[in-house]
Amino acid sequence: MTSPPTRIPGRRFLHSPGPTPLPEAVLQAMSAQPMDLADPRVDANIAACEQGLKRLLHTKAADVFMYAANGHGVWEAVVENLAAPGEAVLVPGTGHFSESWAVQTEGLGRRVVRTPWREGWPIDADVVEQALRDDKARAIKAVFAVHTDTASSVTSDLAAIRRAIDAAGHPALLVADVVASLGAVPFAMDALRVDVAVGASQKGLMCPPGVGFVAVNAAAFGAAERNTSPRFYWDWVRRKHELSYRKFCGTPPQNLLLGMEAALGLIFGEGLEAVWLRHEQLARAVHAAVEGWREGGTLDFLAQDPASRSRSVTTISAAGIDIEALRSVARERFQVAIAGGLGPQTGRAFRIGHLGDCNPAMILGAIAGVEAALVAQGVNIGGGGTRRAVMSLAGHPLPA
Ligand SMILES: *Cc1c(COP(=O)(O)O)cnc(C)c1O
Repeated sequence: MTSPPTRIPGRRFLHSPGPTPLPEAVLQAMSAQPMDLADPRVDANIAACEQGLKRLLHTKAADVFMYAANGHGVWEAVVENLAAPGEAVLVPGTGHFSESWAVQTEGLGRRVVRTPWREGWPIDADVVEQALRDDKARAIKAVFAVHTDTASSVTSDLAAIRRAIDAAGHPALLVADVVASLGAVPFAMDALRVDVAVGASQKGLMCPPGVGFVAVNAAAFGAAERNTSPRFYWDWVRRKHELSYRKFCGTPPQNLLLGMEAALGLIFGEGLEAVWLRHEQLARAVHAAVEGWREGGTLDFLAQDPASRSRSVTTISAAGIDIEALRSVARERFQVAIAGGLGPQTGRAFRIGHLGDCNPAMILGAIAGVEAALVAQGVNIGGGGTRRAVMSLAGHPLPA
């Protein structure tokens, strides 16, 4: 294999559903010298990130804990704080990400009760309710719900899960993984009575990978306090402290946090409603393109119900085509980086990310670039994919 060229003319389009492209202002904010740990700017930056994340999560009551970690790190933080080894949690199936969280939880010696995932469909809240009713001993400590499963590109209804827990009269805490949805769609932690929200820097937040965070309400913090199983680095009780060195159990990832403060400033400067609307319009354009491509008979949405199709990422099932060759042609020849399928979709699907710092021209470039790669690979895609995306963004009705 020849090695890829070192210089690419123009700009390469990054359309993986995380990491996502970084705005210039975020890059600039990060290119600063680190500070000594007593510098008040360190504390001011951390406070700005905590306040901004609380505002983004729509919580007044919760404490935010940030980690120098990726999403898997904060998954582990949730497990370590909320359940002792041998105790159980419920993980409703949403696709590869719910399953990965379940496997990690079991790897930490906790028990996992799963509800099955129907490929392409969101969480069935009735099945969750029944699983909780069946837990007569009230052994399940928490429900770990993935809001948007980045592999299946299905978004589930968190309010319905909250209702299911209430209807079952079950004391389990509700933990929502909003890693892929935060900043793309509305999420209101307090109103939903989510006990713990889990996020990461590199998706809708337009930051580099490396910062994971949780927001923890009083009920969840109390559960962590009562959980006496040994833990240290991930411990919320230990991290609830004024000193930044204690908040991070060591040196904070300063430059990443400078980037996060800048990114949060961009989000609130644009306006959260405007950010959500932009994600909705861009997602509609991608969906319009897929509706065109699927007419060729090879490609289709993995997410079956249009209402649960994610505004962050679209998974396109493509059985019988060489996905890795398609990705390689898209990346190396047309300069559009897309993601492959994960878990059961490996080799059967590809994914287009449309979250974070993205605009109509970028999304049209990505769609047309993917379309060019599909054509180059001889995939039958019908005729109207990119055209439909243009119509969608122009606000014109799509052909039936
Ligand atoms: C990306 C993602 C994760 C994992 O994040 P990493 O930073 O890759 O560890 C967890 N949950 C969801 C929903 C994600 O999209």
